[in-house]
Formats: sequence, structure tokens, C-alpha cells
Amino acid sequence: MPTPITNHKPPTTSHGIRAAVLPAPGIAPEVRSYSLPEMENGAILLRTIASEVCGTDVHLHHGRLAGVPYPLIPGHVSVGEIDQVCGTVLDVDGLPLQTGDVITFLDVHGTCNSCWYCLVAKATTRCPHRRVYGITFGADESPGLSGGWAEYIYLRPGTKIIRLEPGVTPDAWIAGGCGLPTAVHAIELAQIRLGDRVLVQGSGPVGLNCAALAMLSGAGWVGVIGAPENRLRTAKGMGAVWTMDVTTTTPEERYRAVRDATGGRGPDIVIEASGNPLAVPEGCALTRDAGRYIIVGQYTDNGSIELNPHLHINKKHLEIRGCWGSDFSHVYRAMQIAARFGKQVPWPSLISRRYGLEEVGQALADVEAGRVVKAVVVPDSA
Ligand SMILES: [Zn+2]
Ligand SMILES: [Zn+2]
Repeated sequence: MPTPITNHKPPTTSHGIRAAVLPAPGIAPEVRSYSLPEMENGAILLRTIASEVCGTDVHLHHGRLAGVPYPLIPGHVSVGEIDQVCGTVLDVDGLPLQTGDVITFLDVHGTCNSCWYCLVAKATTRCPHRRVYGITFGADESPGLSGGWAEYIYLRPGTKIIRLEPGVTPDAWIAGGCGLPTAVHAIELAQIRLGDRVLVQGSGPVGLNCAALAMLSGAGWVGVIGAPENRLRTAKGMGAVWTMDVTTTTPEERYRAVRDATGGRGPDIVIEASGNPLAVPEGCALTRDAGRYIIVGQYTDNGSIELNPHLHINKKHLEIRGCWGSDFSHVYRAMQIAARFGKQVPWPSLISRRYGLEEVGQALADVEAGRVVKAVVVPDSA
């Protein structure tokens, strides 16, 4: 059992601010030193308590995301303690943020609230002006310190900040990580009704959080298809009552087993959280006729697949919905959910291992191999 994340006193900054950096795609991460940015009015300096390592960081390491300026300090979901506030910064409730507050923040920054997507479609995840901490702010771009794998994070004016609710520990929040708000988004689209049968494809952090939220939404049956075995065991702890290993079964065997477990008709709702394009035609087939299929796992472009529009969609009255990332409302709701259901969902148990800044290469390898459920970077643990 890992020791819980606690609030240490700030590390000395005489050596500069240490950060783990991805120099370029495919190049091993290294620790570099940065000076503190000049504080602008409305900015916050956050002392990082913990930052997550997620599948997106593995994609960043391999250069599979477009528009990423390397070198990069990754870490898009982080929790920290406010070290400095420049001027007055208010949270969403209009309350001033102060030194010592323990907070998290929306990784997306700079959505413009004046483009067509922001104003008409109300889909800020598609705003062309959006930038993302730990993903599209480069390490060498001023003012710097824009990722969580660092001793400090510089939060630019306008960053959307959320206080950790009472009872939500830094451990619990970072264990939910970006998987929890992403799952909130998927579950909103899923529109689960009480008693519905819900199947999740994928047992990574997004899939595990989808299973937990399906259970909390009143699903009568929650199943998870995934791998490896340790993640399927975790899925049971998160609310699944049925699991199946995707690596030791054929699509036909899975189809038959899911039919057998769901009254012969198939799940009312299937949520794809696997990232494997091949999961999509399979998921269409697994969903019951006139059911709903949510695709949330295809965050990066992993290629094309063949679908039979007649069999997979038209004839079976399949409703397909997709979502990419999350917005402020999903992170806000995730915090409320973490506070309300922390006793029912063992989020902190998702943390498999903590890594210092020098160990992030190992963390990326462990996440990629599925050896850990959730890897957490603790910058001052070294
Ligand atoms: Zn916009
Ligand atoms: Zn992520």
C-alpha cells in the first residue's frame, strides 16, 4: 500500500524549479531546471503535490498527438497547494483563492467564448483557441512551467481553478485523474436509466471510472471487457459485476458471453474506452438493438476500421455518440462526485505507484505496458 500524498513544506528553489521534460518524440525524458516566471496579475503559482501519468502522456512520448510543441513538461491533471496569488483570483463560486488552498484546475486554457463552437455549438472542447497545460504549451514558451511534472506550475490568468472539496484528498483526486471527468462526459451522453445493463470496453482509468459512474447512475448490471487481470480485479472493486479478459477470448466468445450475461439481447448501453479501433465494430454488435453506443476511448488517431452500416447501425437502430476530452462542467461535477461517493468508490486504490521526476521514463513504460493502473508523479519525492 503506497503512503498517502501529504503536504510537505515547499522545496528550496535556490536550484531553480525542477521539471521532467520530454525533449522530443521518442527521446527519453530528462530533468531540467527552470526559473520562476514573473507573476502577472491574476496568475497563481502552484506547488505541485501530485500530477498524473495517463495514456495521453504515452502518446505524447511517442509523438502521436498533432500540434504538440516539444520540449514539453507533461502533466495535464495535477493537484497542488497555492504558493502565491498575484492580485485577486476568484473561484467559480466567487470566493477568493488564497495561499495554502489545495486546488486542481482545468487543463484546457484559453477557450475564447467568442467563436462559433464556444457560442453557438456550446462545445468548448472544439474551440480552435484552446490550449492545454501539459500538452500544447511548450516548456520553452513564455511564461513557462505549464505542466504538472514539475515542482511548481504557473497558472496563467484565466485558468479555471477548483478547490478540493472537504473529504477529497489529493490522492483521491489524482487517482481519478483525467479519467474521471472524461468518464463524467461519457456517462452524460450515455443517459443511463435505472436498471440498465451497461458494458464498458476497456479497463484503463477511463473505463474503470465509467464502470464506477454507471454503477452510481443506477445501472442494474455493469460489465467490463479488458485486460490485464489486475485491472479486471480493480473493475470489480469499482462497481463491475462481470468482467472478461479481451486477450484470452475471441470476438465470438465475447459476443456469446455478453449475450448470456444480459438476458440474450445485449447491454442497453455500451461504452468504448479501450482506444483500440477494433473495439468499435465489436461494440456496435454487442449493444442490444435500439441501444446506445458511446465512443470515448479513441482520443488519438489509431487508424480506420470496417463497419457494416446496415448491420451495425441502420437495421439495429443503434444510436452512436462520441466525445473527446472534457470541459469545466465535467471537472466540476467530477469533484462533486468524488466528494459525495468517496466512500463507495475506492479511487485511491487505483494508484499503483508513485514516481519522482527522475523516474517518469519508468512511469511511462509502466503505463504503456499496463503494469500499473494509475501512475502518479510526485515531484518533491526525490
Ligand atoms: Zn472558442
Ligand atoms: Zn489524461
